[in-house]
Amino acid sequence: MATVKLTNVKKIYGKDTVAVQDFNLDIADKEFIVFVGPSGCGKSTTLRMIAGLEDISDGTVEIDGVVVNDLQPRDRNIAMVFQNYALYPHLTVFENMAFSLRLKKVPQDEVYERVTAAAEILGITEYLTRKPRALSGGQRQRVAIGRAMVRDSKVFLMDEPLSNLDAKLRNQMRAEIILLRQKIDTTFIYVTHDQTEAMTLGDRIVIMKDGFIQQVGTPTEVFDMPINLFVAEFIGAPKMNTFKTNLICEDGKYYVTPYGAKIEVTGKKGEMLREAGIKGGEILLGVRPEHMTLSTKDDPAAIPCKITVNEMMGSELHLHVVEDNGDKLIVRIPTVTLEDDQRKSLVFGNTIYVTFEGKVMHFFDAETEKNLLV
Ligand code: ADP
Repeated sequence: MATVKLTNVKKIYGKDTVAVQDFNLDIADKEFIVFVGPSGCGKSTTLRMIAGLEDISDGTVEIDGVVVNDLQPRDRNIAMVFQNYALYPHLTVFENMAFSLRLKKVPQDEVYERVTAAAEILGITEYLTRKPRALSGGQRQRVAIGRAMVRDSKVFLMDEPLSNLDAKLRNQMRAEIILLRQKIDTTFIYVTHDQTEAMTLGDRIVIMKDGFIQQVGTPTEVFDMPINLFVAEFIGAPKMNTFKTNLICEDGKYYVTPYGAKIEVTGKKGEMLREAGIKGGEILLGVRPEHMTLSTKDDPAAIPCKITVNEMMGSELHLHVVEDNGDKLIVRIPTVTLEDDQRKSLVFGNTIYVTFEGKVMHFFDAETEKNLLV
C-alpha cells in the first residue's frame, strides 16, 4: 500500500521565487502519475519535496496517511531515479545495486537474492560484475532503476530518467518502464518535459505551468478535453492549430467561420455547445493537425492555403501551410490515402484546400483561453 497526498503544497526559494503553489493531488496506491510541463514549471521541485530533498514551504505531503514534511528522505520509504544515474564509478553493478542494502546491514544472502532478482527483471544479469563505465547509457539507466528496485520502496520517484538517452533508446526504455511497472507493485511518480512520455506512461498526467497545476487527467481526458489552450497546445505533436474565428448559432445549429469557410459543429461537440447554452461570438478554435483533411475548391467548408513545407515522415506527410492572411497551420495526411498524382502536387507554393469536421473542434474563450466545454 502506498498512497501519496499533497495538500496546498507551496515552495518558495529564497525570499520570493515561488516555484510551486496550490498543489493539490491524491495519488492512488499503485498509480503511475506523470508530472509534465515546460522547463521551469516546478515539476522537479514538487518531486523533490515528496522525496524530502527539498523543504516544503507550506502545505502537507502525506505518504500512506502519514504527514512526512519533517521526515528525512531515508525515512520516507521512497526510491528515486535521477537523469544522471548517480552511479558510483568505482563499484561494480552488483555493489551499486546493493549499496543501500549494505548500509541497512541486510544479511548477505538476502542482498544477493534481491540484487539478482532485480537484475533478472531488468535484463542486466550478465553485467553484474562490470563497472558503470563499461556500460552503455541504457544499461546504466537500468542499473539506476535496479538500485531503486532492490529497496522495496513504497513509492518510486523518477526525474527525467530517459532524457540522457538517444531517441531510439528512449523509445525502447519507455516500453521497458511500462513492462517494469507491470512487474513491480508500487506507486510511481515520474517527471518529464516530454508529452509523449507522459501520454504513454501515465495512468494520469499532471500538466503544470508556472508553478500551477493546469489539469489532472488520464491521457485520453487531457487529449480530448484540454482544460485550456495551454494544455491543448502542449499535449499532442505537432501542436494543435488555433485560429480566431466566430462561433455562430443558426436555427439551433452551430457553425464556425474560419477564413470565410462555414463548417457545422456536428456530433457530440454540437450537442455539448447546445447543452452548455453557448451563445456564440468570437472564439479561439483549435483543430489538431491529424484531424484536418484535404478538400476541394468548391467545398464551402474548405480553407485555401499555400504549402510552405512538405515534410515526408514515411507513413504520413506533415504539410506546413499558410492561409491568405498569414496564419500558419500544419496538416497531417496519411500517405496511404493519397493517389500518386495528388502526392506530386503537394509541393511548395501550390494551393490546397483543407477542412475538418465538427466533432474534432475545440472551442476556447478568446480572452481567458479556457475550454468553453470543460
Ligand atoms: P522543472 O523541473 O519543471 O524544470 P524546477 O522545479 O526545477 O522546474 O524549477 C521551478 C522553478 O524554481 C524555476 O523557476 C527554477 O528556476 C526555480 N528553482 C529551482 N531550484 C531552485 C533553487 N535551488 N533555488 C532557486 N530557485 C530554484
